[in-house]
Amino acid sequence: RKSLAADRVSDADVSARMVDLEAAVRGGDPTRIRQEAQETVGVLARVLAEREERNASQIAELAQRLEALRAELDVARGEAATDALTGLFNRGAFDEQIEREVDLALLFRTRPSLLLLDLDHFKRVNDEYGHRCGDEVLRRVASALSRCFMRKDDYIARYGGEEFAIVLREVDARTAAQLAERALETVRNLEIAFEDHPPLRVTASIGLAELRAGASSAEWIERADRALYRAKDGGRDRIVAASATDA
Ligand code: GH3
Ligand code: MG
Ligand code: MG
Repeated sequence: RKSLAADRVSDADVSARMVDLEAAVRGGDPTRIRQEAQETVGVLARVLAEREERNASQIAELAQRLEALRAELDVARGEAATDALTGLFNRGAFDEQIEREVDLALLFRTRPSLLLLDLDHFKRVNDEYGHRCGDEVLRRVASALSRCFMRKDDYIARYGGEEFAIVLREVDARTAAQLAERALETVRNLEIAFEDHPPLRVTASIGLAELRAGASSAEWIERADRALYRAKDGGRDRIVAASATDA
């Protein structure tokens, strides 16, 4: 708006000069024509220089605003993808990520592993210690998992209430199973203090599935989920790997 107003003022200056110059031309006095022409050129030069300066500062200002908007957008995007309780990626983010993982695996012919980790008898924690204590357990487990899987290719999300999903790229299934075993041990060894309760311990079960060539994300998740179910069925606090051939 400011610059439009400034443009109008300078346009009016230029128009006024043109009227004078035209009058001088019509008058036919060469000295006056030269004088008016010189003045008109002077005004035009000034107006152009001012306009250029305004444009430059406007572009700089716009660039600054764009930068601020971009930063705000990054924050908003981060918030939209983050689980508020644990700070991990949330389910929505995971659903998008798993598709990317399947695409990448197809492209690079890799076989990432998916771990579904579910806390054992978590309902009891809530029942015995209260929901707020349950929340604290979820936060502690989440931060322990972040420490277990901290390579830049590891992807951890809160998949549901007391269930976490971890995608490990660039490791074979055997290594993934070892890492999963270590994660279970870490969870088992957590001593979770909450208010005046004696420190509380929890365990978790894991279903692990390596992505099969050409499989969809839905199939992949389904296999990990069935393996998790078998881990629960087999007594919990353990990991079960889906076989490469199961349906
Ligand atoms: P299992 O070993 O078979 O997994 O038993 P479980 O008790 O862990 O499983 P179940 O699915 O019966 O119960 C899950 C519980 O997790 C029930 C629900 O109240 C609790 N839960 C889910 N989300 C949250 C949460 O955000 N905070 C708390 N405190 N509890 C939650
Ligand atoms: Mg559970
Ligand atoms: Mg569950």
